[in-house]
Amino acid sequence: MKCHHCEKKAAITLQHGPVCERHFINYFEDKVFKTMKKYQFIKANDSLCVAASGGKDSLTVLYLTKKYLKENNLKNKLFALAVDEGIKDYREHTLIDLKEFCRKNEIELKIVSFKEEFNSTLDEAKEKIGGKKPCNICGVWRRYLLNKYARQENATKVITGHNLDDEAQVVLMNMFKANTGLAAQLGPITGIKEHPLYFCTEKETKLYSILKKFQVNFAECPNAQDGYRIQIRDVLNDFEQKYPGTKQGIINSFLTMLPLLKKQAEELQNKQIRQCLKCGEPANQTVCNACKIAGEL
Ligand code: SF4
Repeated sequence: MKCHHCEKKAAITLQHGPVCERHFINYFEDKVFKTMKKYQFIKANDSLCVAASGGKDSLTVLYLTKKYLKENNLKNKLFALAVDEGIKDYREHTLIDLKEFCRKNEIELKIVSFKEEFNSTLDEAKEKIGGKKPCNICGVWRRYLLNKYARQENATKVITGHNLDDEAQVVLMNMFKANTGLAAQLGPITGIKEHPLYFCTEKETKLYSILKKFQVNFAECPNAQDGYRIQIRDVLNDFEQKYPGTKQGIINSFLTMLPLLKKQAEELQNKQIRQCLKCGEPANQTVCNACKIAGEL
């Protein structure tokens, strides 16, 4: 098949037709930069922290944020923050890729770890804490460390590699579990968190990282198969294959409901927000979830 814009061989078929490598790269970068512009991700005095793991999404978003700053002649501080959860035979490899990427692209990198902060790797914690899935522990601790160290480094924005597939999965999960309050925390921009890949699919991001020759380990986290989310992902991928545009449709409908959800959640949050008695981080109970898990250990 030929590219819809030129005579070259197509690398992927998008909704508007097949495109070659060069036109795909232009399309992808354009989409990411438009998202950053539309939602005004970067303001003059912002200090930018990219939550990085060394996977394809985080390397792509790190690379494009740096490119966006350069192309727009912006001088904002940019650094990468990685969390080493302590997942054997997995995280050490992605961190090697991340270190190499940051070295090559001259991006400052800070790595923090579960072991140093909570005195336990994720592998150790999942053995000791019964009844909790590794992803639940991991999600709570990772969020905690990203918030804490982004703030410690004076970051005003945290940029993530969250893509359209991730968001469509979370939208469905919240719907299936009736988590209206959590649904209100989604969207291309949530508090200081921003997601430039919000409108890019997993497949597009993967192709971009391959075409740009990023050194990426595409292996999945060994704990991923345990998750509820993986089942949702498989259902969505199946639907997408049969009915292309399904994921985009979920996001479009969700974005029309989001202002209403946010308004409702704000009213509720004003009544509930407190500080954790142990660490002082925001919590909706007397002790935050990160300290509760650490306490169980
Ligand atoms: Fe953490 Fe689960 Fe993601 Fe693995 S799959 S990195 S355990 S949240």
